[in-house]
Amino acid sequence: MFEYAPAPESRSIVTIEPTYGLFIDGSFVEGKGTFKTVNPASEEVLAEVAMAAPEDVDRAVAAARRAFGPWSALPGAERAKYLFRIARIIQERSRELAVLESLDNGKPIKESRDVDLPLVAAHFFYYAGWADKLAYAGFGPDPKPLGVAGQVIPWNFPLLMLAWKIAPALAAGNTVVLKPAETTPLSALFFADVCRQADLPPGVVNIITGAGDTGRYLVEHPEVDKVAFTGSTEVGRQIARSVAGTGKKLTLELGGKAANIVFDDAPIDQAVEGIVNGIFFNQGHVCCAGSRLLVQESIAEPLLDSLKRRMATLRVGDPLDKNTDIGAINSRAQLEKITELSEIGSSEGAERWSPPCSLPDRGFWFAPTIFTGVTQAHRIAREEIFGPVLSVLTFRTPDEAIEKANNTPYGLSAGIWTEKGSRILAVADKLRAGVVWANTFNKFDPTSPFGGYKESGYGREGGRHGLEAYLA
Ligand code: NDP
Repeated sequence: MFEYAPAPESRSIVTIEPTYGLFIDGSFVEGKGTFKTVNPASEEVLAEVAMAAPEDVDRAVAAARRAFGPWSALPGAERAKYLFRIARIIQERSRELAVLESLDNGKPIKESRDVDLPLVAAHFFYYAGWADKLAYAGFGPDPKPLGVAGQVIPWNFPLLMLAWKIAPALAAGNTVVLKPAETTPLSALFFADVCRQADLPPGVVNIITGAGDTGRYLVEHPEVDKVAFTGSTEVGRQIARSVAGTGKKLTLELGGKAANIVFDDAPIDQAVEGIVNGIFFNQGHVCCAGSRLLVQESIAEPLLDSLKRRMATLRVGDPLDKNTDIGAINSRAQLEKITELSEIGSSEGAERWSPPCSLPDRGFWFAPTIFTGVTQAHRIAREEIFGPVLSVLTFRTPDEAIEKANNTPYGLSAGIWTEKGSRILAVADKLRAGVVWANTFNKFDPTSPFGGYKESGYGREGGRHGLEAYLA
């Protein structure tokens, strides 16, 4: 492995205020209490953030309700101008945002800079293009917005999940109250400032920070017409129960346990890159991560040798270093969950391997890990670990691969590696997964719908399909 000199991005690019309020009706206002957000790579407190109490949620929803009439009455081309403006400001300020995201989330700067931020801007550009063409989206000649959208997002892609939620909602003429995750509120609060810079009318976007209870109060609020949630299946279930019978429209994007299937005719080096990208991208905090590797038995040995060699070159450490491949685990709680499930993997008889790597003393870290000898009964083959941990299973025939791939309560994504186009089509057709990648993995595009089957949730985000969730 080459020794690289450290190449840290400058932290001073972004200004972090010591305290942040709630963004309601175009202004930052105080909440009832505060909580701290920390840098998971150092455990240093980054800022104190307001905790929204139920009355704050009421205020935010009321502001969104007031803004809805004028916003939805604007011609689509006028709404599009705001979205274009937001997209351009995000591009202009993307360096600040990338540093902020890496500081608050722990993800490597090369990912926040080269993946998250370009995709965030692309989502706003893409949905700006739809705003004046809603009548041609395939949902009737005169589709109408729903009203106030209550949106709750997780910590793994804080700004990207915000873009997935807010861009289609605004394009369709809805107004928004969004709650970011407790451990990663800063980029959403920065986005509030972007809205002000874009002169977005007050109340169209409201950002309320807080814990799970704030999210629960928001989604249960009677004045919310549409709920969009990304997060754990457990919380998704609770939300589905609370929304049932209320007439609110609901989209849920939940967990996954994706199979990445490698056939014996796959080009091994490319497949190894795809496996590494599938499970170690964003520390494995990815709902569609390729967390189960299904490899054809005849090539298991050379493929695993190759994978281990590649894993030994992954650099774990400072998220702001441009050479870093794997950053910090987002929180102590998530680190404990990954650690616990990995220990269960060993105790159930799977064989654990990590390359030698030294982890920083402070912060939350987990070395890239693979488990071989995994069977379908193992918990690490069934449960979402949401960390840099890969479970390796083998198969002999395509039918066995399909059966194992589908043997999961989830159905969000899958990958297929083979040289044969006919096999790609035949296998993809039988996989019960919302997204199937062929000879690639973790590729995202705003024009492409994303969503799951079974316990991975329902509804689609992205593309023309993503508009449907925000139109009546
Ligand atoms: P949660 O599902 O608890 O959190 C997602 C969002 O929902 C956060 O903003 C959270 O707020 C909020 N929330 C929590 N409880 C409620 C509620 N009752 N009603 C409304 N909103 C609520 O995920 P965790 O962060 O607890 O992660 C747990 C596990 O979930 C992970 O280990 C991973 O397996 C999975 N996960 C999956 C994700 C995906 O993209 N599919 C994303 C994140 C996690 P707060 O942050 O304040 O708790």
